[in-house]
Amino acid sequence: LLRGCLCCAALAATGCVATEPTSNLAPGYRPDSATLEGGLWRAMQREEARIADSPNRIRDPAVTGHVEEVVRRLAGEHAADIRVYVVRAPGFNASMAPNGMMQVWSGLLLRTQTESQLATVLGHEVAHYTRRHTLARFQQARGAADVAALLGLGGVAGLVVGVAAMAGVASFSREQEAEADALGLAMLNTAGYVADDAPGLWENLLAEARLRPEGNRLPLFATHPASDQRAAALREAAATLPAASRGTPRPLRTSLRGIRQMLFADELRLGQYAASVELFRQAEAAGNADGPLYTAWGEALRLRNEAGDADLALATFRRATTEADAPPEAWRGLGLVLRRQGDRSGAQAAFRTYLARAPRATDAALIQSYLDEAGA
Ligand SMILES: [Zn+2]
Repeated sequence: LLRGCLCCAALAATGCVATEPTSNLAPGYRPDSATLEGGLWRAMQREEARIADSPNRIRDPAVTGHVEEVVRRLAGEHAADIRVYVVRAPGFNASMAPNGMMQVWSGLLLRTQTESQLATVLGHEVAHYTRRHTLARFQQARGAADVAALLGLGGVAGLVVGVAAMAGVASFSREQEAEADALGLAMLNTAGYVADDAPGLWENLLAEARLRPEGNRLPLFATHPASDQRAAALREAAATLPAASRGTPRPLRTSLRGIRQMLFADELRLGQYAASVELFRQAEAAGNADGPLYTAWGEALRLRNEAGDADLALATFRRATTEADAPPEAWRGLGLVLRRQGDRSGAQAAFRTYLARAPRATDAALIQSYLDEAGA
């Protein structure tokens, strides 16, 4: 359902067919059902119905409300035509279907350190919509093989099942991506966000991507070797825009409070701890450190368990326990590292605190058995 959304993945292969000029959508526009565009919309409406009912959809109102608010501000008169679905997936991605369905991955929310960085990506997506980029790509296609190639499918056979699912996530041309970056940045500025934040996002992603194993990258990085070029282009463009003024931005971290631990757990499940540690370092540098962050960071170190990691994990878990919003798992991690180091009484104290704070934890019996073995 959620795979293959590589919209933002592409500063696509060079040598693309030049993009035909496509007009801006008028607000409230609906295509004639007999046209190619009408067909694309129908296919995407069916896909949208599935996503709306998906168990992977995140419905936390603080999260969806904040993302929708950013889209509303960016999209202006088009806002009423765009529906936003936040979905639980650890990659960095968002996609925009031609009928106004926007998908935002939870892994993206973990990596946009400011509201402005989130707005950078979402503005880019809104631009794909208002410039009808998907339609333009389909209009350029010459026959089924071209369409299949456009959709990133292996061959014509894949088309039979693929069109409906993939029409909203077709890869865009290099020119379309550049146009979406430029237009998105203009929207960002008009909406009063700080364009200066945009290049930092791509620099962060690049630093993280370098630590992901080759061939096992998150969706953005699979086909996107050019984040450094993109960061440079955005930096150049941002410098030409007048300074934005918007007052105090709403911190994303606050809106994510209800799902942050879930997002960290999803990240750790990838088992790519060096990249996770880099991601957590970026969050701390951006001022987004809190109890859940330090706890996840400690877990990444504990699970990686390379030379020196145990001591770093201890320090990081201890840091987590000093935060007002420290989750019980901070003491669990602390206890596990101390136990491995042979600090029996230290481990006992940490485990007791864990069980007192999370008596119904799924691993409560296991942790209790560690207390019992220690003769507590
Ligand atoms: Zn894009």
